[in-house]
Amino acid sequence: MSDGDNHQSTRRTICNVCERPATVCLCDFIPTEPLSTTTQIVILQHPHEQRHRLATVPVLNKCLRNCETLIGRRLRHGDSDLLDYLHDQENPNESIHAAFLFPATDLNPSTEINQWKSSFGDDDTNRYVLIAFDGTWKHAKEMLYASFQFVSKFATQVCLTYDVNVDGGTIFNSDLILRKEPFGGCMSTMEAVARCLRVLEPNGIEIESRLVQVLKKMVSLQASFMKPTNHRPKLLKKGKDDEKMSNS
Ligand SMILES: [Zn+2]
Repeated sequence: MSDGDNHQSTRRTICNVCERPATVCLCDFIPTEPLSTTTQIVILQHPHEQRHRLATVPVLNKCLRNCETLIGRRLRHGDSDLLDYLHDQENPNESIHAAFLFPATDLNPSTEINQWKSSFGDDDTNRYVLIAFDGTWKHAKEMLYASFQFVSKFATQVCLTYDVNVDGGTIFNSDLILRKEPFGGCMSTMEAVARCLRVLEPNGIEIESRLVQVLKKMVSLQASFMKPTNHRPKLLKKGKDDEKMSNS
């Protein structure tokens, strides 16, 4: 990743509330009270993602009360009390179900998240833990492989199936790809988590729409902010979206 175009000629002022450049401050759109979810979200963020201008994880963190972000290249014992607890329990708690979001690979199958959820029935006491890897496709794969032995002990690999025609594809897909490293059709981590919460939360539709609203605003602010620069945002090429993947 090159971030040559991340630097403006003058130092940008950073909003100290949302921690984004003041020109693309999202404070007016981030919920004043972080949204509560019964699902606990744990995100492993690749160190390189922290510097991305379109990093969605910090914004997601501000929107959600139960979202924990770990910076690193692998999940292992000692990183998170919650994951350690899930890993160490001898008799798994029957009402807590953990999953990590990742598409099927040659090595591992992945269960569609609706199917995964319905395998536990409709019991109101079900609680979910959702683990997501935030990085480029390549980094996410590396993080998964490095973490697999640990997480697969207590969590199931799940994926989202989404019909790109339903609402014009992912947000990044339908607008501009502002990343240096576009993977056609990549879904930001924030969007992927929003889609999962729609499935997992009792009021999932509302939570998803709140998150998607913030994300749309973020993308449109970023797009308008970029227009005057000489870096031309890449328009999405149709037909290059077969590598769908959770990515920010
Ligand atoms: Zn702000």
